[in-house]
Amino acid sequence: MRFLNSSKTDICIIGAGASGMTAAIAAAEAGAEVCLIESGDRVGRKILKTGNGKCNLSHTPTTSEAYHGSGRQRIDSFLGSFGTNETKAFFERLGLITRERDGYVYPYSEQASVVLDVLRYNIGSERIRLMTEIRADMIRPERNCFCIGNDIKARRVILAAGGMASPETGSDGSGLKIAADLGLRIVEPFPALTKLTVREKSIVSLFGVRAKGKLTVYLSGVGAILSDRGEIQFTKDSISGIPVFNISGEVIRAMEQGCKAKAVIDLIPEYDESELCDRLNERITSPGSRSLIRNMNAEQLFTGLVHKKLCLYAMDRAGIRPSDKADTLEPEMLHRFIYELKNLTFNISSYYGYEQAQVMSGGVHFDEVDDDLRCVRIPGLYLAGELLDIDGICGGYNLQWAWTSGYIAGKRAAESL
Ligand SMILES: Cc1cc2nc3c(=O)[nH]c(=O)nc-3n(C[C@H](O)[C@H](O)[C@H](O)COP(=O)(O)OP(=O)(O)OC[C@H]3O[C@@H](n4cnc5c(N)ncnc54)[C@H](O)[C@@H]3O)c2cc1C
Repeated sequence: MRFLNSSKTDICIIGAGASGMTAAIAAAEAGAEVCLIESGDRVGRKILKTGNGKCNLSHTPTTSEAYHGSGRQRIDSFLGSFGTNETKAFFERLGLITRERDGYVYPYSEQASVVLDVLRYNIGSERIRLMTEIRADMIRPERNCFCIGNDIKARRVILAAGGMASPETGSDGSGLKIAADLGLRIVEPFPALTKLTVREKSIVSLFGVRAKGKLTVYLSGVGAILSDRGEIQFTKDSISGIPVFNISGEVIRAMEQGCKAKAVIDLIPEYDESELCDRLNERITSPGSRSLIRNMNAEQLFTGLVHKKLCLYAMDRAGIRPSDKADTLEPEMLHRFIYELKNLTFNISSYYGYEQAQVMSGGVHFDEVDDDLRCVRIPGLYLAGELLDIDGICGGYNLQWAWTSGYIAGKRAAESL
Protein backbone atom coordinates (compact mmCIF):
# COMPACT_ATOMS: atom_id res chain seq x y z
CA MET A 1 0.00 0.00 0.00
CA ARG A 2 1.53 3.31 -1.04
CA PHE A 3 -0.73 5.79 0.70
CA LEU A 4 1.16 8.84 1.94
CA ASN A 5 -0.58 8.42 5.24
CA SER A 6 -3.59 6.52 6.44
CA SER A 7 -6.13 9.17 5.50
CA LYS A 8 -4.95 10.58 2.16
CA THR A 9 -5.72 9.03 -1.19
CA ASP A 10 -6.10 9.81 -4.88
CA ILE A 11 -9.72 8.76 -5.15
CA CYS A 12 -12.26 8.07 -2.45
CA ILE A 13 -15.25 6.02 -3.58
CA ILE A 14 -18.34 6.14 -1.40
CA GLY A 15 -20.32 2.90 -1.62
CA ALA A 16 -19.05 -0.60 -2.43
CA GLY A 17 -22.01 -1.81 -4.48
CA ALA A 18 -21.96 -2.78 -8.15
CA SER A 19 -20.99 0.68 -9.41
CA GLY A 20 -18.56 1.51 -6.59
CA MET A 21 -16.58 -1.73 -6.90
CA THR A 22 -16.40 -1.37 -10.69
CA ALA A 23 -15.19 2.20 -10.27
CA ALA A 24 -12.52 1.05 -7.80
CA ILE A 25 -11.20 -1.62 -10.18
CA ALA A 26 -11.23 0.75 -13.18
CA ALA A 27 -9.48 3.52 -11.23
CA ALA A 28 -6.84 1.15 -9.85
CA GLU A 29 -6.23 -0.32 -13.31
CA ALA A 30 -5.63 3.24 -14.52
CA GLY A 31 -2.98 3.71 -11.84
CA ALA A 32 -4.83 5.55 -9.07
CA GLU A 33 -4.76 4.78 -5.37
CA VAL A 34 -8.26 4.23 -4.16
CA CYS A 35 -10.01 4.25 -0.84
CA LEU A 36 -13.35 2.44 -1.11
CA ILE A 37 -15.65 3.07 1.82
CA GLU A 38 -18.75 1.06 2.60
CA SER A 39 -21.29 1.64 5.36
CA GLY A 40 -22.12 -2.05 5.71
CA ASP A 41 -19.94 -4.77 7.15
CA ARG A 42 -19.79 -6.43 3.72
CA VAL A 43 -19.56 -5.20 0.14
CA GLY A 44 -22.08 -5.73 -2.67
CA ARG A 45 -24.96 -7.06 -0.61
CA LYS A 46 -27.54 -6.10 -3.23
CA ILE A 47 -25.80 -8.11 -5.94
CA LEU A 48 -26.68 -11.29 -4.06
CA LYS A 49 -30.38 -10.50 -4.41
CA THR A 50 -30.34 -9.81 -8.13
CA GLY A 51 -32.06 -11.96 -10.72
CA ASN A 52 -33.57 -14.18 -8.00
CA GLY A 53 -30.07 -15.11 -6.90
CA LYS A 54 -28.85 -15.69 -10.48
CA CYS A 55 -27.81 -12.08 -11.27
CA ASN A 56 -29.07 -10.94 -14.65
CA LEU A 57 -26.03 -8.75 -15.12
CA SER A 58 -26.62 -7.28 -18.57
CA HIS A 59 -28.70 -7.44 -21.73
CA THR A 60 -27.94 -7.79 -25.44
CA PRO A 61 -28.57 -5.25 -26.85
CA THR A 62 -28.86 -2.48 -24.29
CA THR A 63 -30.33 0.75 -25.63
CA SER A 64 -31.95 3.90 -24.28
CA GLU A 65 -35.44 2.50 -24.93
CA ALA A 66 -35.09 0.35 -21.82
CA TYR A 67 -34.49 3.34 -19.55
CA HIS A 68 -36.42 6.20 -17.91
CA GLY A 69 -35.18 9.45 -16.39
CA SER A 70 -33.19 12.52 -17.34
CA GLY A 71 -30.27 10.30 -18.39
CA ARG A 72 -32.27 8.53 -21.09
CA GLN A 73 -31.23 10.93 -23.85
CA ARG A 74 -27.55 10.44 -23.06
CA ILE A 75 -27.28 6.81 -22.04
CA ASP A 76 -26.52 5.52 -25.54
CA SER A 77 -23.31 7.51 -25.57
CA PHE A 78 -22.23 6.11 -22.17
CA LEU A 79 -23.15 2.59 -23.34
CA GLY A 80 -21.22 3.28 -26.54
CA SER A 81 -18.02 3.59 -24.54
CA PHE A 82 -18.74 0.80 -22.00
CA GLY A 83 -21.74 -1.35 -22.96
CA THR A 84 -22.65 -5.03 -22.90
CA ASN A 85 -19.60 -6.27 -24.83
CA GLU A 86 -17.16 -4.23 -22.76
CA THR A 87 -18.90 -5.49 -19.60
CA LYS A 88 -18.53 -9.11 -20.67
CA ALA A 89 -14.87 -8.48 -21.52
CA PHE A 90 -14.36 -6.71 -18.17
CA PHE A 91 -15.82 -9.65 -16.26
CA GLU A 92 -13.83 -12.11 -18.32
CA ARG A 93 -10.69 -10.26 -17.25
CA LEU A 94 -11.85 -10.74 -13.66
CA GLY A 95 -12.31 -14.45 -14.34
CA LEU A 96 -16.07 -14.63 -14.87
CA ILE A 97 -17.62 -16.13 -17.98
CA THR A 98 -21.24 -15.48 -18.91
CA ARG A 99 -24.13 -17.17 -20.67
CA GLU A 100 -26.99 -15.60 -22.57
CA ARG A 101 -30.66 -16.55 -22.95
CA ASP A 102 -32.90 -14.44 -25.21
CA GLY A 103 -30.62 -11.46 -24.65
CA TYR A 104 -30.52 -11.87 -20.84
CA VAL A 105 -26.90 -12.15 -19.69
CA TYR A 106 -26.09 -14.23 -16.58
CA PRO A 107 -22.91 -15.55 -15.01
CA TYR A 108 -22.25 -18.99 -16.51
CA SER A 109 -22.79 -20.54 -13.07
CA GLU A 110 -26.09 -18.65 -12.71
CA GLN A 111 -25.00 -17.69 -9.20
CA ALA A 112 -25.08 -14.06 -8.12
CA SER A 113 -22.57 -14.91 -5.39
CA VAL A 114 -19.98 -15.69 -8.06
CA VAL A 115 -20.36 -12.20 -9.58
CA LEU A 116 -19.86 -10.68 -6.16
CA ASP A 117 -16.89 -12.94 -5.44
CA VAL A 118 -14.95 -12.01 -8.59
CA LEU A 119 -15.50 -8.34 -7.80
CA ARG A 120 -14.48 -8.89 -4.17
CA TYR A 121 -11.27 -10.71 -5.11
CA ASN A 122 -10.37 -7.98 -7.60
CA ILE A 123 -10.82 -5.15 -5.14
CA GLY A 124 -8.17 -6.92 -3.11
CA SER A 125 -5.59 -5.23 -5.36
CA GLU A 126 -2.90 -3.38 -3.46
CA ARG A 127 -3.99 -0.09 -4.95
CA ILE A 128 -7.43 -0.38 -3.34
CA ARG A 129 -7.98 0.08 0.36
CA LEU A 130 -11.40 -1.14 1.43
CA MET A 131 -12.88 0.32 4.59
CA THR A 132 -16.14 -1.25 5.73
CA GLU A 133 -18.53 0.02 8.41
CA ILE A 134 -17.64 3.59 7.50
CA ARG A 135 -20.63 5.69 6.60
CA ALA A 136 -20.04 8.96 4.75
CA ASP A 137 -22.41 11.72 5.81
CA MET A 138 -20.95 14.56 3.82
CA ILE A 139 -18.35 15.55 1.26
CA ARG A 140 -16.57 18.83 2.00
CA PRO A 141 -14.81 20.38 -1.01
CA GLU A 142 -11.57 22.08 0.04
CA ARG A 143 -8.73 23.61 -1.97
CA ASN A 144 -7.40 20.84 -4.25
CA CYS A 145 -9.09 18.05 -2.33
CA PHE A 146 -12.24 16.77 -0.66
CA CYS A 147 -12.77 15.82 2.97
CA ILE A 148 -15.02 12.85 3.61
CA GLY A 149 -15.92 12.86 7.28
CA ASN A 150 -13.06 13.92 9.52
CA ASP A 151 -10.55 11.32 8.47
CA ILE A 152 -10.35 10.92 4.74
CA LYS A 153 -8.89 13.39 2.27
CA ALA A 154 -9.02 12.63 -1.44
CA ARG A 155 -8.16 14.46 -4.64
CA ARG A 156 -11.22 12.99 -6.34
CA VAL A 157 -14.45 11.54 -4.95
CA ILE A 158 -16.84 9.16 -6.65
CA LEU A 159 -20.26 9.08 -5.03
CA ALA A 160 -21.68 5.61 -5.73
CA ALA A 161 -23.94 5.15 -2.72
CA GLY A 162 -26.96 3.81 -4.65
CA GLY A 163 -30.59 4.83 -4.33
CA MET A 164 -33.19 3.79 -1.79
CA ALA A 165 -34.48 0.46 -3.07
CA SER A 166 -33.98 -2.55 -0.81
CA PRO A 167 -32.60 -0.41 2.04
CA GLU A 168 -31.56 -3.45 4.09
CA THR A 169 -28.71 -3.87 1.59
CA GLY A 170 -27.32 -0.47 2.63
CA SER A 171 -28.77 1.89 0.03
CA ASP A 172 -30.68 4.04 2.48
CA GLY A 173 -30.77 7.32 0.55
CA SER A 174 -27.80 8.84 2.35
CA GLY A 175 -26.03 9.32 -0.99
CA LEU A 176 -28.93 11.46 -2.18
CA LYS A 177 -28.70 13.55 0.96
CA ILE A 178 -24.97 14.08 0.41
CA ALA A 179 -25.69 15.17 -3.19
CA ALA A 180 -28.51 17.49 -2.10
CA ASP A 181 -26.29 19.06 0.60
CA LEU A 182 -23.78 19.84 -2.15
CA GLY A 183 -26.53 21.74 -3.96
CA LEU A 184 -27.05 19.21 -6.76
CA ARG A 185 -30.46 19.10 -8.44
CA ILE A 186 -32.45 16.04 -7.40
CA VAL A 187 -35.38 14.62 -9.37
CA GLU A 188 -37.90 13.48 -6.77
CA PRO A 189 -37.29 9.79 -6.11
CA PHE A 190 -39.95 7.04 -6.14
CA PRO A 191 -39.81 3.26 -5.96
CA ALA A 192 -39.83 1.44 -9.33
CA LEU A 193 -39.90 -2.18 -10.46
CA THR A 194 -42.41 -2.90 -7.74
CA LYS A 195 -45.89 -4.38 -7.17
CA LEU A 196 -49.01 -2.31 -7.67
CA THR A 197 -51.80 -2.72 -5.12
CA VAL A 198 -55.43 -2.78 -6.29
CA ARG A 199 -58.75 -1.63 -4.82
CA GLU A 200 -60.59 -4.86 -5.65
CA LYS A 201 -60.56 -7.02 -2.50
CA SER A 202 -61.69 -9.95 -4.62
CA ILE A 203 -58.14 -10.27 -5.96
CA VAL A 204 -57.40 -12.38 -2.88
CA SER A 205 -59.12 -15.29 -4.65
CA LEU A 206 -56.37 -15.15 -7.30
CA PHE A 207 -53.55 -15.36 -4.77
CA GLY A 208 -50.63 -17.35 -6.19
CA VAL A 209 -51.83 -17.38 -9.80
CA ARG A 210 -49.29 -16.67 -12.55
CA ALA A 211 -50.59 -16.11 -16.06
CA LYS A 212 -49.05 -14.92 -19.30
CA GLY A 213 -50.94 -11.99 -20.72
CA LYS A 214 -50.94 -8.40 -21.86
CA LEU A 215 -51.13 -5.64 -19.29
CA THR A 216 -52.34 -2.18 -20.23
CA VAL A 217 -52.51 0.67 -17.73
CA TYR A 218 -54.70 3.68 -18.46
CA LEU A 219 -53.83 6.91 -16.68
CA SER A 220 -56.56 9.46 -16.17
CA GLY A 221 -55.99 13.09 -17.07
CA VAL A 222 -52.85 12.59 -19.13
CA GLY A 223 -54.61 9.96 -21.24
CA ALA A 224 -51.40 7.95 -21.31
CA ILE A 225 -51.47 4.26 -21.93
CA LEU A 226 -48.66 1.98 -20.83
CA SER A 227 -48.50 -1.60 -21.99
CA ASP A 228 -46.32 -4.69 -21.61
CA ARG A 229 -46.62 -8.46 -22.05
CA GLY A 230 -45.37 -11.34 -19.97
CA GLU A 231 -46.14 -13.30 -16.84
CA ILE A 232 -48.45 -11.45 -14.50
CA GLN A 233 -48.57 -12.61 -10.89
CA PHE A 234 -51.48 -12.10 -8.52
CA THR A 235 -50.97 -11.63 -4.79
CA LYS A 236 -53.45 -11.07 -1.95
CA ASP A 237 -53.66 -7.36 -2.67
CA SER A 238 -51.59 -6.59 -5.74
CA ILE A 239 -50.50 -7.41 -9.25
CA SER A 240 -46.87 -8.25 -9.79
CA GLY A 241 -44.49 -9.82 -12.31
CA ILE A 242 -42.23 -8.38 -15.00
CA PRO A 243 -44.91 -6.50 -17.04
CA VAL A 244 -46.15 -4.83 -13.85
CA PHE A 245 -42.62 -4.00 -12.70
CA ASN A 246 -41.70 -2.56 -16.08
CA ILE A 247 -44.42 0.04 -16.06
CA SER A 248 -44.64 0.56 -12.29
CA GLY A 249 -42.22 3.50 -12.22
CA GLU A 250 -44.23 5.55 -14.71
CA VAL A 251 -47.53 4.60 -13.07
CA ILE A 252 -46.28 5.60 -9.62
CA ARG A 253 -44.92 8.93 -10.83
CA ALA A 254 -48.24 9.68 -12.58
CA MET A 255 -50.26 8.65 -9.51
CA GLU A 256 -48.14 10.90 -7.31
CA GLN A 257 -49.08 13.73 -9.66
CA GLY A 258 -52.77 13.01 -9.08
CA CYS A 259 -53.59 10.59 -11.93
CA LYS A 260 -55.85 7.62 -11.37
CA ALA A 261 -54.57 4.37 -12.84
CA LYS A 262 -56.54 1.40 -14.12
CA ALA A 263 -54.94 -1.89 -15.10
CA VAL A 264 -56.59 -3.99 -17.79
CA ILE A 265 -55.28 -7.51 -18.34
CA ASP A 266 -55.86 -9.47 -21.52
CA LEU A 267 -55.45 -13.11 -20.50
CA ILE A 268 -55.64 -14.41 -24.09
CA PRO A 269 -53.98 -11.73 -26.21
CA GLU A 270 -53.31 -14.07 -29.14
CA TYR A 271 -57.02 -14.40 -29.95
CA ASP A 272 -59.53 -11.63 -30.50
CA GLU A 273 -62.82 -11.45 -28.70
CA SER A 274 -65.08 -12.42 -31.61
CA GLU A 275 -62.92 -15.41 -32.50
CA LEU A 276 -63.14 -16.75 -28.95
CA CYS A 277 -66.92 -16.14 -28.81
CA ASP A 278 -67.41 -17.93 -32.13
CA ARG A 279 -65.43 -20.91 -30.90
CA LEU A 280 -67.53 -21.20 -27.73
CA ASN A 281 -70.82 -20.78 -29.56
CA GLU A 282 -69.78 -23.36 -32.10
CA ARG A 283 -68.95 -25.85 -29.38
CA ILE A 284 -72.29 -25.35 -27.68
CA THR A 285 -74.38 -25.55 -30.82
CA SER A 286 -72.54 -28.11 -32.95
CA PRO A 287 -74.54 -31.35 -33.21
CA GLY A 288 -71.45 -33.42 -32.38
CA SER A 289 -70.82 -31.92 -28.94
CA ARG A 290 -74.38 -30.90 -27.98
CA SER A 291 -75.11 -34.06 -26.03
CA LEU A 292 -71.87 -33.72 -24.08
CA ILE A 293 -72.42 -30.04 -23.33
CA ARG A 294 -75.92 -30.83 -22.07
CA ASN A 295 -74.32 -32.68 -19.13
CA MET A 296 -71.81 -29.92 -18.33
CA ASN A 297 -71.99 -26.92 -16.07
CA ALA A 298 -70.42 -23.55 -16.87
CA GLU A 299 -67.22 -24.29 -14.93
CA GLN A 300 -66.68 -27.48 -16.91
CA LEU A 301 -67.46 -25.74 -20.20
CA PHE A 302 -64.82 -23.08 -19.68
CA THR A 303 -62.12 -25.40 -18.33
CA GLY A 304 -59.19 -25.34 -20.70
CA LEU A 305 -59.22 -21.64 -21.46
CA VAL A 306 -57.14 -20.07 -18.70
CA HIS A 307 -56.02 -20.85 -15.13
CA LYS A 308 -59.00 -22.23 -13.19
CA LYS A 309 -58.98 -19.44 -10.57
CA LEU A 310 -58.95 -16.82 -13.32
CA CYS A 311 -61.79 -18.60 -15.08
CA LEU A 312 -63.91 -18.56 -11.91
CA TYR A 313 -63.03 -14.90 -11.34
CA ALA A 314 -64.08 -13.90 -14.86
CA MET A 315 -67.27 -15.97 -14.55
CA ASP A 316 -68.16 -14.15 -11.36
CA ARG A 317 -67.57 -10.79 -13.05
CA ALA A 318 -69.75 -11.88 -15.96
CA GLY A 319 -72.57 -12.97 -13.62
CA ILE A 320 -72.20 -16.66 -14.42
CA ARG A 321 -72.34 -19.23 -11.59
CA PRO A 322 -70.03 -22.26 -11.91
CA SER A 323 -73.07 -24.54 -11.49
CA ASP A 324 -75.10 -22.88 -14.28
CA LYS A 325 -75.99 -25.41 -16.95
CA ALA A 326 -73.73 -24.96 -19.95
CA ASP A 327 -76.45 -25.28 -22.57
CA THR A 328 -78.54 -22.53 -20.94
CA LEU A 329 -75.84 -19.85 -21.36
CA GLU A 330 -77.01 -17.21 -23.79
CA PRO A 331 -74.52 -15.96 -26.45
CA GLU A 332 -74.59 -12.59 -24.72
CA MET A 333 -73.40 -14.17 -21.44
CA LEU A 334 -70.66 -16.04 -23.24
CA HIS A 335 -69.64 -12.77 -24.79
CA ARG A 336 -69.51 -11.06 -21.38
CA PHE A 337 -67.38 -13.87 -20.03
CA ILE A 338 -64.92 -13.63 -22.93
CA TYR A 339 -64.89 -9.87 -22.53
CA GLU A 340 -63.87 -10.31 -18.86
CA LEU A 341 -61.07 -12.71 -19.82
CA LYS A 342 -59.72 -10.13 -22.22
CA ASN A 343 -60.38 -7.09 -20.04
CA LEU A 344 -59.79 -8.14 -16.43
CA THR A 345 -59.83 -4.73 -14.77
CA PHE A 346 -58.22 -3.59 -11.53
CA ASN A 347 -58.11 -0.07 -10.15
CA ILE A 348 -54.63 0.68 -8.86
CA SER A 349 -54.81 2.01 -5.31
CA SER A 350 -51.14 2.30 -4.40
CA TYR A 351 -47.79 0.54 -4.66
CA TYR A 352 -45.25 -1.34 -2.61
CA GLY A 353 -42.45 0.87 -1.28
CA TYR A 354 -38.67 0.76 -1.35
CA GLU A 355 -38.50 -2.41 0.79
CA GLN A 356 -40.02 -4.37 -2.10
CA ALA A 357 -38.85 -2.26 -5.04
CA GLN A 358 -35.88 -3.34 -7.15
CA VAL A 359 -34.81 0.18 -8.07
CA MET A 360 -35.35 3.85 -7.35
CA SER A 361 -36.50 6.15 -10.13
CA GLY A 362 -35.36 9.76 -9.87
CA GLY A 363 -32.10 10.89 -8.28
CA VAL A 364 -29.39 13.35 -9.30
CA HIS A 365 -30.38 15.09 -12.56
CA PHE A 366 -28.12 14.36 -15.52
CA ASP A 367 -27.62 18.08 -16.12
CA GLU A 368 -25.28 17.90 -13.12
CA VAL A 369 -22.76 15.60 -14.87
CA ASP A 370 -20.66 15.77 -18.01
CA ASP A 371 -19.74 12.91 -20.34
CA ASP A 372 -17.12 11.70 -17.85
CA LEU A 373 -19.83 11.58 -15.14
CA ARG A 374 -17.95 14.43 -13.47
CA CYS A 375 -20.02 16.95 -11.61
CA VAL A 376 -20.23 20.08 -13.74
CA ARG A 377 -20.41 22.43 -10.77
CA ILE A 378 -17.91 20.61 -8.56
CA PRO A 379 -15.03 19.32 -10.72
CA GLY A 380 -13.27 16.50 -8.93
CA LEU A 381 -16.57 14.96 -7.81
CA TYR A 382 -17.91 12.08 -9.92
CA LEU A 383 -21.24 10.26 -9.69
CA ALA A 384 -22.11 6.68 -10.58
CA GLY A 385 -24.91 4.11 -10.35
CA GLU A 386 -28.51 4.26 -9.28
CA LEU A 387 -27.97 7.55 -7.46
CA LEU A 388 -28.26 9.24 -10.85
CA ASP A 389 -31.68 9.84 -12.43
CA ILE A 390 -31.86 6.79 -14.65
CA ASP A 391 -33.66 3.49 -14.14
CA GLY A 392 -34.13 0.57 -16.46
CA ILE A 393 -36.80 -2.06 -16.98
CA CYS A 394 -36.23 -5.67 -15.90
CA GLY A 395 -33.65 -7.61 -17.91
CA GLY A 396 -30.17 -6.63 -16.73
CA TYR A 397 -30.37 -2.94 -17.63
CA ASN A 398 -29.92 -1.56 -14.11
CA LEU A 399 -26.79 -3.54 -13.39
CA GLN A 400 -25.52 -2.63 -16.84
CA TRP A 401 -25.86 1.01 -15.88
CA ALA A 402 -24.02 0.34 -12.60
CA TRP A 403 -21.09 -1.30 -14.46
CA THR A 404 -21.11 1.35 -17.22
CA SER A 405 -21.22 4.35 -14.92
CA GLY A 406 -18.82 2.83 -12.39
CA TYR A 407 -16.26 2.02 -15.05
CA ILE A 408 -16.46 5.42 -16.75
CA ALA A 409 -16.36 7.39 -13.49
CA GLY A 410 -13.46 5.32 -12.09
CA LYS A 411 -11.35 5.45 -15.24
CA ARG A 412 -11.93 9.12 -16.00
CA ALA A 413 -11.39 10.18 -12.39
CA ALA A 414 -8.04 8.35 -12.42
CA GLU A 415 -7.04 9.83 -15.78
CA SER A 416 -7.81 13.34 -14.49
CA LEU A 417 -5.23 13.11 -11.68
C1 LIG B 1 -34.27 -7.71 -5.35
C2 LIG B 1 -33.50 -7.02 -6.45
C3 LIG B 1 -33.24 -7.68 -7.62
C4 LIG B 1 -32.56 -7.03 -8.66
N1 LIG B 1 -32.26 -7.75 -9.79
C5 LIG B 1 -31.59 -7.15 -10.79
C6 LIG B 1 -31.20 -7.89 -11.95
O1 LIG B 1 -31.35 -9.11 -12.02
N2 LIG B 1 -30.60 -7.21 -12.95
C7 LIG B 1 -30.35 -5.85 -12.89
O2 LIG B 1 -29.83 -5.29 -13.84
N3 LIG B 1 -30.65 -5.14 -11.78
C8 LIG B 1 -31.24 -5.76 -10.73
N4 LIG B 1 -31.53 -5.05 -9.59
C9 LIG B 1 -31.10 -3.62 -9.51
C10 LIG B 1 -29.58 -3.51 -9.25
O3 LIG B 1 -29.21 -4.41 -8.25
C11 LIG B 1 -29.18 -2.08 -8.83
O4 LIG B 1 -29.64 -1.16 -9.79
C12 LIG B 1 -27.67 -1.93 -8.68
O5 LIG B 1 -27.17 -2.88 -7.75
C13 LIG B 1 -27.32 -0.52 -8.23
O6 LIG B 1 -25.94 -0.45 -8.00
P1 LIG B 1 -25.30 0.79 -7.20
O7 LIG B 1 -23.86 0.50 -7.08
O8 LIG B 1 -25.70 2.05 -7.82
O9 LIG B 1 -26.00 0.78 -5.78
P2 LIG B 1 -26.04 -0.33 -4.63
O10 LIG B 1 -25.86 -1.68 -5.19
O11 LIG B 1 -27.25 -0.04 -3.86
O12 LIG B 1 -24.74 -0.03 -3.76
C14 LIG B 1 -24.61 1.12 -2.96
C15 LIG B 1 -23.65 0.81 -1.84
O13 LIG B 1 -23.33 2.01 -1.15
C16 LIG B 1 -23.35 1.77 0.25
N5 LIG B 1 -23.68 3.04 0.88
C17 LIG B 1 -24.86 3.68 0.84
N6 LIG B 1 -24.76 4.86 1.49
C18 LIG B 1 -23.49 4.94 1.96
C19 LIG B 1 -22.79 5.93 2.71
N7 LIG B 1 -23.38 7.06 3.10
N8 LIG B 1 -21.49 5.70 3.03
C20 LIG B 1 -20.87 4.54 2.63
N9 LIG B 1 -21.50 3.57 1.92
C21 LIG B 1 -22.79 3.78 1.58
C22 LIG B 1 -24.43 0.70 0.42
O14 LIG B 1 -24.27 -0.01 1.62
C23 LIG B 1 -24.21 -0.16 -0.83
O15 LIG B 1 -23.28 -1.20 -0.58
C24 LIG B 1 -32.16 -5.67 -8.52
C25 LIG B 1 -32.40 -5.02 -7.31
C26 LIG B 1 -33.06 -5.66 -6.28
C27 LIG B 1 -33.30 -4.94 -4.98
